[in-house]
Amino acid sequence: MAFQKMPGTQDIMPGAVERWQYVEQKARDICRRYNFREIRTPIFESTELFQRGVGETTDIVEKEMYTFTDRGDRSLTLRPEGTAGVVRAYVENKLYGEPDVSKLYYIGPMFRYERPQAGRYRQLHQFGIEALGSVDPALDAEVIALGYTFYTEVGLKGVRVEINSVGTPAVRAAFRERLLAFLEPKRELLCKDCRSRMDRNPLRVLDCKHDQQHFTDAPSILDSLDEECRNHFGKVQTYLSDMGIPFSINHRLVRGLDYYTHTVFEYKAEGIGAIDTVGAGGRYNGLVAEIGGPDQPGIGLGIGLERTILLLQHQQNEIPAAGDIDVYLIALGEAAEREVTKLVYRLRQNGLRAERDYLGRKMKAQMKSADRLQARFTAILGDDELARGEIALKDMTNGEQRIVALDRLAEAING
Ligand code: ATP
Ligand code: MG
Repeated sequence: MAFQKMPGTQDIMPGAVERWQYVEQKARDICRRYNFREIRTPIFESTELFQRGVGETTDIVEKEMYTFTDRGDRSLTLRPEGTAGVVRAYVENKLYGEPDVSKLYYIGPMFRYERPQAGRYRQLHQFGIEALGSVDPALDAEVIALGYTFYTEVGLKGVRVEINSVGTPAVRAAFRERLLAFLEPKRELLCKDCRSRMDRNPLRVLDCKHDQQHFTDAPSILDSLDEECRNHFGKVQTYLSDMGIPFSINHRLVRGLDYYTHTVFEYKAEGIGAIDTVGAGGRYNGLVAEIGGPDQPGIGLGIGLERTILLLQHQQNEIPAAGDIDVYLIALGEAAEREVTKLVYRLRQNGLRAERDYLGRKMKAQMKSADRLQARFTAILGDDELARGEIALKDMTNGEQRIVALDRLAEAING
C-alpha cells in the first residue's frame, strides 16, 4: 500500500504555496518596518519547558503535546507554540543584558495532537512576535497593531480585535473568589474539564469551548482591577484609538495562565465553520522568571497561518500568480542540444527564468510545453542557426519571430 500523510498534516503544493509565500513575505516585511528581528529556535525542546512555559492546566499541556523519549532517555516535545522556546532562547543567550527591548519574530511549524478539522491541524504554522524587556503599554498597543496590520495587508476583511485585561496575580487572586462564587452553583452543568479547572485554575474555565452559554452573567475581571492595572489598560486603549485600530473589550477573554498579566487579546473573523479566532496574544510579565530567567516582562502574539489562508480563500482573495517562464528553449539536433544545455544555464545566470525539454520530445510537444508554462518567448535552435551563431526567438504574445545572435539572447528577451 502506498504511504499517506498523517491525519492533521498537509502537503502545501505548488499552486497553493504561492499564497503561503505571499503571506510569509508580508509578515517579514511588516516585522522589518516595526523593527522585529527573526529568531529561529529548535522544533523540539525539553518537555518541562512547555509544562512550565505554557502551563500545566492548559489544553496544550493536558492533552495536545507530541511528547517522546529520545535514545538518550530525555523527555522531548515537538513545540506546540512559539513563546516558550523564544523565551528560553532569550534567557539562554542573555538578551536581557542588552540595552534595548528585544523584539523578535518567528514563522514556522507547531505541533498539537488535536482532532483534525478545517482550521485545526496537528502540524500548524504560526507567525508570532515577542517583545521582551518593557512594561510600556505603548508596546502592547504596538503588538496588537502589528497583528492587525498583518491581517489587513494580506487582504483579509472583517477581522475584529478583542482586548481584555487579566490584571496581576494579586488581582486575579481576588477575582478568583468572585468567579468561584459564581461558578460553584453551576458546577453540575459544566463539562469535566471545567469542573477540574475550577479547583486548579478557575480563570481557565471562562476559556472553555463548550460552556460559554453558562457564563453570560459571569462577573467581570475588569471590576477587580487595581489602579495600576486600570491605568495600563486605559493607556493601551488610548494608544489603539490614536492609531485608529478598531477594537472592542471582551471581559470574558482570558488566557488563564498564571504568568499572563494585563493585556490579552484575540483577532476574530467568520468563515471557518465554528472557529472564529485567527490569532491571539497577551502580556506575560511573569513568564521569563517562571522559566528560570531574570524578572523581565514580555508581550507577544501568535497568528495561525492556515486559518489566515483559509479565510483568504473563503473571501476569494486572488492567488498571486506564480509568474510566467521568460523563455523556453527548444533544441533540434544533437549539436543544438549541447548548446541549449549551456544556453539555459547562461540565461539563468543572467536572472531569467528559463526552461527546456528533458524528455527527448519532438518539437511540437516541446511547443505545447512552452504554452503550458506560458513562456513569454520560445527560442528554437537548429543545426543551421547554430552554425551561424544565431537562434530563432519567438515572442509568444504576438507570434513574431526574429533571428538573434546567440550571445545577445538575454538582451533580446529582456527587451
Ligand atoms: P483554539 O481556541 O482555536 O484551540 P488556541 O487558543 O489553542 O486556539 P493559540 O494557542 O492562542 O490558539 O494559538 C494562536 C493561533 O494559532 C490561533 O489563533 C490559531 O490561529 C492558530 N492555531 C492554534 N491551534 C491550531 C491548530 N490546531 N491548527 C491550526 N491553527 C491553530
Ligand atoms: Mg487550542
